[in-house]
Amino acid sequence: MTQDTNDEEVDFFNNRFPDAKFSICLRQDELKEKISDEKQVAIRQTFTCYCHDTKYTGIDRPQPKFFVIKNDNMTVENVLDELIRQNMTADCNHQFLEGFYKHTDAQYELFFGS
Ligand SMILES: [Zn+2]
Repeated sequence: MTQDTNDEEVDFFNNRFPDAKFSICLRQDELKEKISDEKQVAIRQTFTCYCHDTKYTGIDRPQPKFFVIKNDNMTVENVLDELIRQNMTADCNHQFLEGFYKHTDAQYELFFGS
């Protein structure tokens, strides 16, 4: 992948999701993929990375957050829109959303990279 392609993708996601408080590290063609046939899924955000280690922060590691998404068409795009609407943020060094880790058809976990 060339640098130009990367910039184009970044521009695309910035324009498509202007209110996102995290960076989206996916390909455009992944947006239309359905993550589930369910009409409601729970998406968990955990804080297991070193940024939230009590050793460094001096405060307790945050509890996982759950986002309940209801949509008849559970595409990556629709899930992202709903996470943004629910004000999902990624404040640490790991703010690049790289995908969803599937636990069950109705339970997913956000996967962040740096
Ligand atoms: Zn982190």
